[in-house]
Amino acid sequence: MPRALMLHDDTPRARLETLDESQLPDREVRVAIDYSDLNYKDAMAVTGQGKIVRDYPLVPGIDFAGTVTDSTDARFAADDRVILTGWGVGERHWGGFAEAMRVDADWLIPCPQPLSTRQAMLFGTAGLTAMLSVMRLKEAGLSPGDGPVVVTGASGGVGSWAVAILAHEGFEVHAVTGKSEQSAWFEALGAHAILPRADFEARGRPLESTQWAGAVDTVGGQVLANLLAQMHYAGRVAAVGLAGDAALPTTVMPFILRGVSLLGVDSVYIPFDRRRAAWQRIAALPNALLSHMHVEEIGLDDVADRAHAMLEGRTHGRVLLDPRR
Ligand code: NAP
Repeated sequence: MPRALMLHDDTPRARLETLDESQLPDREVRVAIDYSDLNYKDAMAVTGQGKIVRDYPLVPGIDFAGTVTDSTDARFAADDRVILTGWGVGERHWGGFAEAMRVDADWLIPCPQPLSTRQAMLFGTAGLTAMLSVMRLKEAGLSPGDGPVVVTGASGGVGSWAVAILAHEGFEVHAVTGKSEQSAWFEALGAHAILPRADFEARGRPLESTQWAGAVDTVGGQVLANLLAQMHYAGRVAAVGLAGDAALPTTVMPFILRGVSLLGVDSVYIPFDRRRAAWQRIAALPNALLSHMHVEEIGLDDVADRAHAMLEGRTHGRVLLDPRR
């Protein structure tokens, strides 16, 4: 009988429960979950911030990797290694903070060789989103010769993977962070320079002197507005997150006078083929990238505490969840 973290709409909100198999959702594929992880959206769901959870009770966890134990769908069979990210799992559907879960076959992709399920969740939704951001920027024509690129929220899951992947692809990466004390780690990830987040938070002018050919922004708000004002002519910005603010207090000036492109990145509902392509690119990254990632490994008991820490900006890198721990 699998253990799971269950969210309720009364207190205590998050409870560790042992589920009868018959309580699992009636879906095609049962997966024994090897690893999940803690993302910003999970932290909001677990703490009750934002409107992430629609129906209670709910098992949170927007992603997981594991091994199929049984399947009524011909695409999957017992012992297949699989990854699930997005599709509203952990928001509208029961998710990965459990020892096992039943899910729709359409939501799964095979875990590509040579990734282990643990390595897959060291990337998780954060690494997938970082890879999708890099793909989006490159497809829009950005290349390392165009000039420096900047990543905001650089110590977070998406941000730190964006720094590492962009540096691996040959870009000169500038990391914007509230955690300048982590400079040795940022350099190990491949950052060329570390810039204090405070320098980007004050309200700036609609156009500033140009600094960046490309950007991955996980913060939103004034930080993103200031980045837009600092982009080179025809600069490309991938908008990924709202860790600072969902608002965007900008003007049309960067777009109409400098031809700047603001490119949206979504990891939740991207089609299967693009999802698989992104994971194959992740699987082809060198192991050295993984060895530099900062990883905190937790069990189901630790989730609530680490969710608060994440929203208070007290985590960095990746928070990996082993549900059997
Ligand atoms: P995370 O690991 O908690 O990282 C967020 C980072 O943002 C923090 O480490 C911090 O970095 C910075 N930050 C935190 N609070 C801030 C504040 N009040 N103002 C400015 N910066 C702040 O979260 P994550 O999982 O990487 O997610 C980052 C963002 O991307 C979230 O908004 C999340 O919802 C979004 N996201 C979107 C997608 C998508 O499909 N579009 C997928 C995944 C995540 P520094 O201290 O280094 O500045």
